[in-house]
Amino acid sequence: MCEFERKQIRSILLFGAPGSGKGTQGKALNQIPGLRHLSSGDVFRNLDPESQNGKIFCSYAGQGNLVPDDVTISIIREEIQNRISRRDFNPDREIILLDGIPRNPKQAKLLDDDLDVIRIIHLNIHDPEIILQRLRNRAIEEGRSDDISKEIILRRLGIYHRDTKPILDHYPHDKLIEIDGGLSPASVLSLITEAIEPVINTTLFEDKEN
Ligand code: ADP
Repeated sequence: MCEFERKQIRSILLFGAPGSGKGTQGKALNQIPGLRHLSSGDVFRNLDPESQNGKIFCSYAGQGNLVPDDVTISIIREEIQNRISRRDFNPDREIILLDGIPRNPKQAKLLDDDLDVIRIIHLNIHDPEIILQRLRNRAIEEGRSDDISKEIILRRLGIYHRDTKPILDHYPHDKLIEIDGGLSPASVLSLITEAIEPVINTTLFEDKEN
């Protein structure tokens, strides 16, 4: 019998402002069987800085701006296909946990045909001071150039509120999971795990039955 080819990739979106803890949680959640973390920022930072796309990334991210949508979407599609080819990700048995993508409603629309978004985890931080403090610490610990200047951090936060947050209206509200991202990493992890465990089990279990 022909194998069913999955048209859309089942995905959970990790959503939140820069410094809300998406990367930390994404790495931890990647340890859960059935979940594969993909951070758009990591994909960009791993590009060869001398390549055309690497140069495009540095010129935008260095100023705190988003990389143009068409370039972003094609790089992420290619990364997902490469992972499938390398058998690093099996869309029939795993859910992709996207962190940092989509980043605006246009990207969300462009990805509608590619993705079956089953949940959106919003790491919400009410106090902007917490975010600034975390990004300052990350600048020291990881040496990320886009975390060093306060002006660039504020631009990224402005873009998040203006361009990224409206994505929350693109998806059905019953798929949204609100988490207090100001809690400790362990508390946030436990809240996320508790919220997505049923949906992971149902999604992956139902598929085995079919
Ligand atoms: P943060 O969320 O802390 O700003 P990321 O690692 O997610 O950090 O992203 C770093 C930079 O990479 C962004 O400032 C932006 O320039 C670029 N980038 C990441 N994801 C996207 C995206 N989906 N669309 C456009 N640019 C992106």
